[in-house]
Amino acid sequence: MKKKTQLIHGGKPIDPLTGAVNVPIYQVSTYKQDGVGNFKGYEYSRTGNPTRHALEELIKDLEGGERGFAFGSGMAAITAIMMLFKTGDHVLMTDDVYGGTYRVMSKVLTRFGIESTFVDTSDLATIENEIKPNTKAIYIETPTNPLLKVTDIKGASDIAKKHSLLTIVDNTFSTPYWQNPIELGADIVLHSATKYLGGHSDVVAGLVVVNSKELGEELHFVQNSTGGVLGPQDSFLLIRGIKTLGVRMEEHEANTVELVRFLDEHPSVSKVYYPGLASHPQHELSKMQSRGFGGMVSFDVGSEENADKLLAKTKYFTLAESLGAVESLISVPARMTHASIPRERRLELGITDGLVRISVGLEDVEDLMEDIKQALAE
Ligand SMILES: *Cc1c(COP(=O)(O)O)cnc(C)c1O
Repeated sequence: MKKKTQLIHGGKPIDPLTGAVNVPIYQVSTYKQDGVGNFKGYEYSRTGNPTRHALEELIKDLEGGERGFAFGSGMAAITAIMMLFKTGDHVLMTDDVYGGTYRVMSKVLTRFGIESTFVDTSDLATIENEIKPNTKAIYIETPTNPLLKVTDIKGASDIAKKHSLLTIVDNTFSTPYWQNPIELGADIVLHSATKYLGGHSDVVAGLVVVNSKELGEELHFVQNSTGGVLGPQDSFLLIRGIKTLGVRMEEHEANTVELVRFLDEHPSVSKVYYPGLASHPQHELSKMQSRGFGGMVSFDVGSEENADKLLAKTKYFTLAESLGAVESLISVPARMTHASIPRERRLELGITDGLVRISVGLEDVEDLMEDIKQALAE
């Protein structure tokens, strides 16, 4: 089955009870048992719910894994994955991971003795060098936020296998439409479904797919024990969003390519970060492991002052955190998503005060181009 078909026909079949072509919202917490322990697959909605289950089957199919899970947010998903580890374990992570991931690892999980170090995973030699005796997993975000750095998923998974480590990939930016980490050797794939999968800025959710029955059982044990599940209404909204993921991603990318071309030649823009640019350091790798480059682009306008001028003038790019929805969003990572990272560290990473990040939406690209053009004009 091709991806666009799978987005619509993947997961659970049409409701066998009524023939409804959409998955019903099972707004229910508990289920009648005919005798003690004798139930029809569902006993309590933290443990399992039919609407959530349909979504979990769908994302499992889309990522080509063994079992899927839906959580109340991307962060709940990441935290549950980390609960597979224990005190004294170490996780090696991409250095410019999502700010919330950095926070939970460095400020919360450290309380329980789970260690992490943040390294440039786009360099495989660095990964190999930074593995410690207590390392249990390599956690990759690719492409990263906001610098769109790309890590070789297959290369990293091979290193992980050699050292008996798990490979975990945050696939939020590429989505299963463009990139399938499990096919490249990863063990666990996760998404902030709040972004492209939902796609309409109306739901907060996290999705996980694992590649083995054992990992599936372990993660279900954690999910059922800690309870960060997604509700049936939000599960329904995600299933609905995912149906159009293909057409949305194609259009996000088409719009982005045009904007990138314009930005790349603009005299007020010193640098453009986009994996689709031939000048991007991992352009070839990106072409090999992904089917598309996505709808996120970052660029440097030189200073905080210039960034503020731009933000004040755009009319279709809404100043907001988040990404991946139908409306174009604009942000300055240094003072928004990445504000919790000390300035010195930020500059080391390349997240300058003049760095602007755009999530290119689905408005008419001529309007978007015109808007950016006038906003950048002196
Ligand atoms: C937003 C985001 C998260 C966190 O997800 P929430 O749904 O906001 O909890 C994790 N990773 C990436 C790459 C994100 O963009």
